[in-house]
Amino acid sequence: MLADQPPYRVSQLWHGLYSRLAEPAELTELPQVLRARLSAEPTLAPSLGLLSETVADQGRTLKWLWSLRGGAMVETVLMHYPDRSTVCVSTQAGCAMGCGFCATGQTGFTRHLSTGEIVEQVVAAARSCRQAPADHVGQPPRRLTNVVFMGMGEPLANFPRVWGAIERLHADLGLSARHLTVSTVGVVPGIRSLASKGLPVGLAVSLHAANDALRDRLVPINRRWPLAALMDACQMWRQATGRRLSFEWALIDQVNDSLSDAAQLADWARSLHAHVNLIPLNATPGWPTVATPPDGVRAFAQALTDHGVNTTVRRNRGANIDAACGQLAARAATSPHPANGPAVVAD
Ligand code: SF4
Repeated sequence: MLADQPPYRVSQLWHGLYSRLAEPAELTELPQVLRARLSAEPTLAPSLGLLSETVADQGRTLKWLWSLRGGAMVETVLMHYPDRSTVCVSTQAGCAMGCGFCATGQTGFTRHLSTGEIVEQVVAAARSCRQAPADHVGQPPRRLTNVVFMGMGEPLANFPRVWGAIERLHADLGLSARHLTVSTVGVVPGIRSLASKGLPVGLAVSLHAANDALRDRLVPINRRWPLAALMDACQMWRQATGRRLSFEWALIDQVNDSLSDAAQLADWARSLHAHVNLIPLNATPGWPTVATPPDGVRAFAQALTDHGVNTTVRRNRGANIDAACGQLAARAATSPHPANGPAVVAD
């Protein structure tokens, strides 16, 4: 593409695209003829087409619906907090894991996203951060600080492309590995692959059940990799990275919110020194149960704390725009009351 250009032009283009997050047409340091050529270059054309933007929480939560080449759709959620801005990206259109309570799982699997399609979601969020209104006078422009791979899809079922995106985000966008977190429902070979890489990105395991009988029902992939195998892989990851693991637990009324569930979860969490994030289940059209009520959430959290487990109850950001955990479904893509999807950590 730039074979006829001097090396410094390549550096200018790289810096412009990745450090300044500019479009080719905005790179005024390049000659106009070259800008025009780059703007027409198919490999630099965006692979995501914006279909809609939905805003909630007084502008602090944004959800984008994208169309991909070939017609699939995915969603991305950007959440602003006082001290950080976190984007939750999708890694697959749909998901084959079949977790019944999850809107994405209810839609089935369409296809893997490419590395470029994953990175573009992050670039879009980074650009949006720069334009976000300040919380107070004198605040510097916002910067994207965190990326969580918790949107539509199971990231570790698309490992090569997700890892490609992690490398690009780390090397080209300058995001610290410590600010990148991969979520999994328990794809054991993927956890082992993650442990073997040099970058210590975070790992969040969507556990939701602490015994195989219940987990087989809630998270079908558990039939392939039951809890003992999952915990072995988590232990390997901990030892390889030196990082703290987190367990995500969607609290479902009278399904996984008893004190005995808390005791079983505490056993696993203590043995792996894991932090537990509790997320009252978000409603989806295809799952008949509801979230644990607030008193039950408090009792469950207290039981974990009493068992010596570090526990956080996550506030659901964006639930009213179906941008919260388990609600992403790219709904415009399917029907007026579509299925949805993925697990957005709403912290
Ligand atoms: S919870 Fe995650 S792994 Fe399970 S169906 Fe939903 S997106 Fe897939």
